Amino acid sequence: MPKTKFIIVTGGVLSGLGKGVACASIGNLLFSKYKVIPVKCDGYLNVDPGTMNPIEHGEVFVLEDGGEVDMDFGHYERFLGVSCKFNWNLTMGKVFDVIRKKERKGDFLGKTVQFIPHVTGLIKEWWFSIAKEEKADILLIEIGGTVGDLENELYIEAARQLKRDVGIKNVMYAHLTYVPVPYGVHEQKSKPTQQSVNLLREKGIVPNIIIGRCSEILSDKIKEKIAIFCDVKKEAVITGLDVDNVYKIPIIFEKEGVSKILKNCLHIKVEPNLKKWSLLVKNMGYAKKTVRIAICGKYTTLEDSYASIIEALNHCGAHLKCGVKAVFVETTDMKNIRNIKSHLKDIDGVIVPGGFGGRGVEGKIEIIKYCRKNNIPFLGICYGMQLAIVEFARNVCGLKNANTTEINPKTKHPVIDILPEQKKISEMGGTMRLGTYPAILKKDSKIFKLYGAISVSERHRHRYEVNPDYIAQLEKKGVVFSGMSPDRKLCEFMELPSHPYFVGCQGHPELKSGFLKPAPLFYGLVKTSLERKKTGFSEI
Ligand code: GLN
Repeated sequence: MPKTKFIIVTGGVLSGLGKGVACASIGNLLFSKYKVIPVKCDGYLNVDPGTMNPIEHGEVFVLEDGGEVDMDFGHYERFLGVSCKFNWNLTMGKVFDVIRKKERKGDFLGKTVQFIPHVTGLIKEWWFSIAKEEKADILLIEIGGTVGDLENELYIEAARQLKRDVGIKNVMYAHLTYVPVPYGVHEQKSKPTQQSVNLLREKGIVPNIIIGRCSEILSDKIKEKIAIFCDVKKEAVITGLDVDNVYKIPIIFEKEGVSKILKNCLHIKVEPNLKKWSLLVKNMGYAKKTVRIAICGKYTTLEDSYASIIEALNHCGAHLKCGVKAVFVETTDMKNIRNIKSHLKDIDGVIVPGGFGGRGVEGKIEIIKYCRKNNIPFLGICYGMQLAIVEFARNVCGLKNANTTEINPKTKHPVIDILPEQKKISEMGGTMRLGTYPAILKKDSKIFKLYGAISVSERHRHRYEVNPDYIAQLEKKGVVFSGMSPDRKLCEFMELPSHPYFVGCQGHPELKSGFLKPAPLFYGLVKTSLERKKTGFSEI
């Protein structure tokens, strides 16, 4: 096994500059040749983001092993083609948990347990053990937050020490900063970068590469200036350009010379394979038609709450050579049909995504009904599928007030009910049905055709399920449960064969969608929506 090389990515000036995408794009230039393992270090004290509000923190990304992590892991998986593990996400919550347990066990007997060397030592050990376990060629470590934040200091200190442990030839430090072009000044400004790099150098880290996020390609002049002030070569200052499509970033990085910097710093061969990637990016740019897909939910004020869904739609656009515009529809106050009609005007397809709790639910159910009756392509994800079952039970099976017990525990018709093993759980963190679960698909179903396989799996994050007591009634009226758990107890997929595309999935197919390989159920939705745009299905 070759010795692991380490790439440390830090950020400066402000948050939201796209450190996750920058990190994933660096990895993208390496992953065709090397085993690149991404690691994310977060400063917060939560053990994981599973209990955080998506409006505050963006979507919760679920891994195969059931780990709940933040959306940067989505970028890593989509850009690096890896399936990440929960252990690759360090949070200060996890780190202090371990330190405290070690101290109680007596691992530090006689010593004062200190931030340095004990906590920083633990962080480095964590990195080394991942590198060893995964036989990583490259460990790509993103340090969350911005340099200067108190909560990330210990990771930065561990990163500084790292070069002493593994040798300077085996570590590369990348720093993402901001180069504004202020309104009216029309000039790229370097001061925020100078100050943020100074802060980093105060902490003992001199970056090998500075990525300046900017609305324009960085000029030679500004590169020169940053190089002088920050003590790097001019060639090591590259543009992190604002883009309409994040998949362009690896291509831009390559043009800006990132491969060369990687080669020189880490002493490895770098031969990115961007052929198919570039072709797909081109497809997106040349798209003649655009389909409009409504995402109907309650976290619509922050697009990041639905980041993976938006990406899954983009992947389909690249493969179907069409633009896909996600249109957010807030369902909270939506009850009457006129309202729904106006919201869904010019919409080609609808997604009701995952969700929790009662707010906006009746609006979602009305939208689902509208899609079912008017042949509008529909994909229900997790809660979206559960609510499609509620709608069908109420309006087709005639089960008055049918509901999920999440909303009405006393409903006469609990068509969606809590899993028996979930009933006794009292802790909220990490206790849902989480992670990947297999399903067996029904041959000849639409869903089987889309997956092209009998045995499939998707990632889950929920507590409720279709109540088996109602399966027969639902089937009698036309629902096909096209995928069941291998023991045939849980309904994992459903569809309505009489409809052009009315599909539900208890898992979250968006989490496994890749740029090179879109998620089948999204592909089906966008393809049918595109066809509908061409032919126009008749309204019933
Ligand atoms: N609230 C539902 C449940 O817990 C659905 C969750 C989701 O959509 N992820 O089962």
